[in-house]
Amino acid sequence: MDFLAPSHTEVKKSTKAPWKILIVDDDPDVHEVTKIAVAGCVFEDRAFELVHALSAEEARQILSDNDDIAVALVDVVMESDTAGLGLVRWIRSELGNHFTRLILRTGQPGYAPQTDVIMKFDIDGYTEKAELSRTKLITAIVTALRGYKLVMSLETNRQKLQQLNAHFAAIVEKNALSEFAAAVLKHFDDLVGQPVDCLLCGLEALPEYGKIDRSKIRVLAASGDFEDKIDLPVELVGDDAIRNSINECIESHETCSTSQGVALPLVTRNGMAGALYLGITEAALEELVGPEVVKLFVSNVALGYEKTGLLEHIRNLAYVDRVTGLSTFSGFIESFQRNSSQHTSLLVVHSEIQRFGVIVDGIGDEKASAVLRRTGHRLSQTFPDALTIARKEKDEFLILLKGGEDNKVQDVVARVEDAFQDAIAIDDNQISLRLRLGFATRDNENQGAEETIRFASIALNDVRQKGLTNHAVFHPLMQEAAFERLRLASLLTGSSNQTEFSVHYQPIMKARDESIASFEALMRFKTPGGSYLNTARMIEAAEASGLISEIGAWMFKSAFSEFVQMQGLSESARLNVNLSPRQVQSNRIYKDIEEAVTAANLPLNRLVFEVTEGLFISNDQVTVSLLSWLRSKGAKVVIDDFGTGYSSFSYLRKLPVDGIKIDRSFIMNMDQDSDALAVVKSIIAVAQALDLSITAEGVETETQKNIMQELRCDYLQGYHYAKPLSSTEIPAFVHKANG
Ligand code: C2E
Ligand code: CA
Ligand code: CA
Repeated sequence: MDFLAPSHTEVKKSTKAPWKILIVDDDPDVHEVTKIAVAGCVFEDRAFELVHALSAEEARQILSDNDDIAVALVDVVMESDTAGLGLVRWIRSELGNHFTRLILRTGQPGYAPQTDVIMKFDIDGYTEKAELSRTKLITAIVTALRGYKLVMSLETNRQKLQQLNAHFAAIVEKNALSEFAAAVLKHFDDLVGQPVDCLLCGLEALPEYGKIDRSKIRVLAASGDFEDKIDLPVELVGDDAIRNSINECIESHETCSTSQGVALPLVTRNGMAGALYLGITEAALEELVGPEVVKLFVSNVALGYEKTGLLEHIRNLAYVDRVTGLSTFSGFIESFQRNSSQHTSLLVVHSEIQRFGVIVDGIGDEKASAVLRRTGHRLSQTFPDALTIARKEKDEFLILLKGGEDNKVQDVVARVEDAFQDAIAIDDNQISLRLRLGFATRDNENQGAEETIRFASIALNDVRQKGLTNHAVFHPLMQEAAFERLRLASLLTGSSNQTEFSVHYQPIMKARDESIASFEALMRFKTPGGSYLNTARMIEAAEASGLISEIGAWMFKSAFSEFVQMQGLSESARLNVNLSPRQVQSNRIYKDIEEAVTAANLPLNRLVFEVTEGLFISNDQVTVSLLSWLRSKGAKVVIDDFGTGYSSFSYLRKLPVDGIKIDRSFIMNMDQDSDALAVVKSIIAVAQALDLSITAEGVETETQKNIMQELRCDYLQGYHYAKPLSSTEIPAFVHKANG
């Protein structure tokens, strides 16, 4: 055997583990020459390490102990003529080693194995020792090593895929994005077989409007050197190279490789964007894991990311209010339940912004959202001690506070008033906000979240109804009233064959000559049985349920068109209609009135609008603009039920009104009760001084009529003249009055 001296270039020190090559031969010389032949050989940066077996038996032992023999050069004839073939059969079948590459060698021709043996035992080469020059030997070994490398990488792939499968099932089970991300990194270390510095960056939820806001991309999980970077925005992570590769990777959806590491894109179908940055080079990664596995790993991570991101998104939708960033209603309930076990005494505040609808109409939806955001912010600042603050819907907020001595209702009211002292500036608009508050306490363990919130809402509704104060504390009586309203409201919403709507008209006479000055339109609700429901209570129910605007619009249309058809009225006769607080709050009132007057061809200057004092308590700009608008069109405005509310003469002067209607209760009692008479007198004196017209309601008797005429009241209304009349009863009444 002639071996050439090793060539210079091949001699190189390598730090990597050498290839193990097993020489199986009963001839010690063969071992020696092989040693000399491969000395200093290096393949792919790895040296050759020879392992020697002088018999098939010894080889079995070595192979059993070492699973990393890359190549075995096996002598065919050793202990027996077939010892070599026996060994390869044993390696493949019994040992189950399918990786070690096998090269058979024989000293004598004629011992060549059958081709079926070569196939069956996956033999890489067969050579006669005589013709094995050094070059040929090394070529054979290198070829075998290439084969070994290939089968090994296939094997690692297979194993890693298996691993992937097993781990991924567990990883995608993670429901929280942060947990998922952490699991990915841990698994990646397993996959590589060594700790790697990793960053998993991405969005925490679906991008808004499908557009990725880079500043929202954060580190979802970090390991190794990056460990402390968790939660940071990408902009604050690592050096420029790392940042750029992550950003570029997310933007382009392409792998971005640098000299220090590689960023792999996580591409999802729903626009969640992310990148897995690894602190090892792309080449090292492919060598350690294999490109196919990397691809598979990344696409699996992307899938999991998509799934958990979606879940997170859904959770966010469920628990974080998109407009204000506060909790949602569901979140509030959950927090209530969580806190129930720790604090027996809880206080729920249900609040809303007064006349928010008007703000929306005035500044538009987008800025109105800003108002909500700022309101939420002020509430958060005002109640740092709140257990939760949530937006329930539209302009309604819920605050959960510890109850008892910690938070007394009056203190909470004072804190809110203080917080909204200053207007909120939205662009050029200074928006003053006033909040209504409904309170309910929970003092016993059995009272649940929904119930307590409902109580607070009933209290809030009471504030809305009465319109006199800005807050109320729930009282069981309120609930009864609420039930009743609900029952009545259901009568209202029933189809028209259940409750029949109509309008009756009650005349208002000029006190001086007792001619018809006006008709007041009053709603009537008739049951299928033919009886009438109590109007005042039905109107209250309509108010509470929000149906009032609908009913009001219907009322305007019917009343205006019936009124224009009334025969025999003077041109100056007017129609009075009632406006309730909730109707005034809604901007549709303008449209409803305009549509009804247009349809009936009734000029606005034939109308008188009756409003209650409650509307003016906050001297509300919205009420004032509506009333000013009506008056500018020639309509008149009068204050209904004057004297029952918080009448303050001092403000009368400032209001855009033309007159007052003295409440029936004063008129009723005036002939027996001198106090009532005194009140009527002083009301009249002030009204006259302010040049306001005066109407007396509920004039039932001749005496009452005479007193009011003496006091120079302008108009009289009441059963003394007529009860409210149906439209069919009007002609007869008009005829009689004109007669
Ligand atoms: P209101 O505006 O104070 O209407 C006067 C109420 O007093 C009417 O009750 C009328 O029938 C009654 N009344 C008139 N004269 C006399 C009298 O001499 N003696 C007695 N005992 N009562 C008299 P009604 O029709 O039951 O209406 C009750 C309330 O419902 C109204 O009080 C008004 O606030 C509200 N309402 C009625 N229709 C409408 C409507 O279309 N829109 C709105 N927003 N509210 C309405
Ligand atoms: Ca009225
Ligand atoms: Ca009245």
